[in-house]
Amino acid sequence: MNAVNWLLLNQSKGYWIAFLVAFFAAAVAESLRPARVITGVEKRWARHGALFVVGTVAVGVVLRFSPVAVALAFSDSPHGLLNRLPFWPAFVLTILALDLVHYVTHWTYHHVGWLWKVHSVHHSDVDYDVSTAVRFHPIEYLLGGGSTLAAIALLAAPPIAVLVSELITVVTNLAVHANANYPPALERVLRTVFVTPAIHRIHHAEDFGDQNANYGQSLVIWDRLFATFRARAASQNFATGLEESRGCDTLSIHHLLTAPFRRSK
Ligand SMILES: [Zn+2]
Repeated sequence: MNAVNWLLLNQSKGYWIAFLVAFFAAAVAESLRPARVITGVEKRWARHGALFVVGTVAVGVVLRFSPVAVALAFSDSPHGLLNRLPFWPAFVLTILALDLVHYVTHWTYHHVGWLWKVHSVHHSDVDYDVSTAVRFHPIEYLLGGGSTLAAIALLAAPPIAVLVSELITVVTNLAVHANANYPPALERVLRTVFVTPAIHRIHHAEDFGDQNANYGQSLVIWDRLFATFRARAASQNFATGLEESRGCDTLSIHHLLTAPFRRSK
C-alpha cells in the first residue's frame, strides 16, 4: 500500500480515535479536578451531541472532501505556497499556518455582525464543560471547515502535516473546553505555548472584554503576538455565557438552531 492510500484509509480512523480518547481524558479530568460545579450534565451532552451530529453530517454532505483529501489533490499545485519547500519546514509551517487560520476565523466571528450571531450559539452556553467543544451551529461547522479547506489548497500543505494538524486541533478543542484545572505547575508550563482550559474559559466569560481575548485554538502564541492574550489565576471565578441569554433555556434545540436568525434584544 502506498503512502497516499494509507493516509486516505486511516485519516478518519485516526480522527475518531483521537476524538474519543481526548473526550474520555477530558471527562476524567473534569471528574478528578473540576473547575466548577455543573448540574444537568446528561442533558448538556445529549443536546450538544445532537448539534455535533447535525454539524458533522452537514460538513460531510456539503463540503464532501476531507482536509487530507484536499491536501492530496493540491500537493502538486503550481500555485502552492509550501509544496516547493523541503518537507520539515513545510510541515512546521503547515501546523503554524492552520492554527493561525483558526485564530483569524475566530477573531472574525467576534467582529463581523452576522458571524457573531452564528458564533454566539457557542458562547450562549452558561456552563462550560467538554461538551461545549462541539456546541457550534451547523453554519459554523461549514464555515470553519470551508476556510480550513481553502487554506490547505492555497498552501498546498503536505498531507501528513494536514493530518497531524487535524489531530492536534480535535484534541486541543476538547481539552481547552474541559471543566477542569490543571495542577498549577503544569498550568504554568503549558500556557507558555498552548491554550489551556483556564485560558480559554476566560474567552467564554460574560464580560465583553474577556470575550475579545484568547482567540487561540491550540497555540497561545497568536494571542501573545497580536496582544489579545488575557490571563487570570485558574481558581478565579466569574460568570460564563452571554448576558442576553440569562434566563433562557440555552440547551433547547430551538434556541441552538435559530439563534443566528433571531433579532437581537
Ligand atoms: Zn469565541
